Formats: sequence, structure tokens, C-alpha cells
Amino acid sequence: MSIVKKENSLSKWYLPGILKGLGITFRNLIKNLTSRDEMLTLNYPEEKYEYGPRFKGNHVLTVKKDGSLRCTACMLCATNCPADCITIVAAEHDDPSVEKYPINYEIDILRCVFCGFCEEACPVDAIRMGPEWQVPGVNGASFINNISELAYRPSLGGGIKTVLDDEERIKGGI
Ligand code: SF4
Ligand code: SF4
Repeated sequence: MSIVKKENSLSKWYLPGILKGLGITFRNLIKNLTSRDEMLTLNYPEEKYEYGPRFKGNHVLTVKKDGSLRCTACMLCATNCPADCITIVAAEHDDPSVEKYPINYEIDILRCVFCGFCEEACPVDAIRMGPEWQVPGVNGASFINNISELAYRPSLGGGIKTVLDDEERIKGGI
């Protein structure tokens, strides 16, 4: 069923509607300027939203106490990734007690769906997802994060060591 609205004499003129719309806009402008604390929007990038410590943001490859990668290149994260965005190239380690390590570990962030399956699949706590969430880039290639970005980016302060408790994880800012 369709409803046919009868036109009245005022609706033939656009001006009342435009003035009414401008009035609503002006009212909200004054309200936002006079009570900024109640505004629902943030002035990004000066103001940033703070997510909780359990938020699954940018990936981090953790490191051992000597600063080397914790990852053993077992491929479980890449196998579990539903977006097929993890690429790992494994190599033999000089130390016979270490079976393998990754000479290349890349995550294509543009394909990642931030599901956290890689973090859950890892048997040695070598990959975590933290509250950092901004991913700037100038082209497609700059969204492919390699080992230096994942493990040693400046915000990680030389790498996050796998001491395995949440307190240190939060303190490390990841
Ligand atoms: S968060 Fe999900 S989609 Fe992203 S790399 Fe990990 S498993 Fe793949
Ligand atoms: S990050 Fe974990 S699951 Fe992925 S290859 Fe390394 S050790 Fe295996």
C-alpha cells in the first residue's frame, strides 16, 4: 500500500524546509561548541580512542631474552589464518637446540581480518595482538609488515619479551 501525501500550500516552497534544516544544524553547532565534553565524536588524530588491554590490534612478534625471535617457524599461524595473509620462510638455526627460525615473516595487513586465530594457534606465545591499531601507509606494499616492523618497531622499545604475563604485556604497550 502506498500513501499519497497531499501537498499543502507551504510545501510548494522550498525555503521553509531549508530554513528549518539550517535551524537544526545551527542548534547542534551551538550545543557542541558549548558542551564539548558531551560530544560523541573525537577530534582525531589529536584525540584517540583508548581500547581495553584485551583489544586485538596490530600484531607483535615477541622476542627471547637475548632479543632473537621467539618464533620457531612451525607455520601453525599461517595454516590457521583464514585470510591467508601470513607468509613465513623458515631456515635451519646454527644452534642445534633450535630446530628452525623464520628468516622472513610477513603479514599483509590489508588482507588481515584481525580475528586473532594466529595468536591462538601459536604454541610458544611468539605472536600477540595488542591495543595499537593505527596502520598508516602510502601504498599497498607499505601494509605488508615484515620482521623489523612486527618485532622491532620503535613503539615496542627493542622487542616484547615472552615473560607470559598480562601485566608485562600491558606495561609494554601491546
Ligand atoms: S588476525 Fe586472523 S586474519 Fe589476521 S593474520 Fe592473524 S589469523 Fe590471519
Ligand atoms: S608465530 Fe607461532 S605459530 Fe606462527 S610460525 Fe611462529 S611459532 Fe609457529
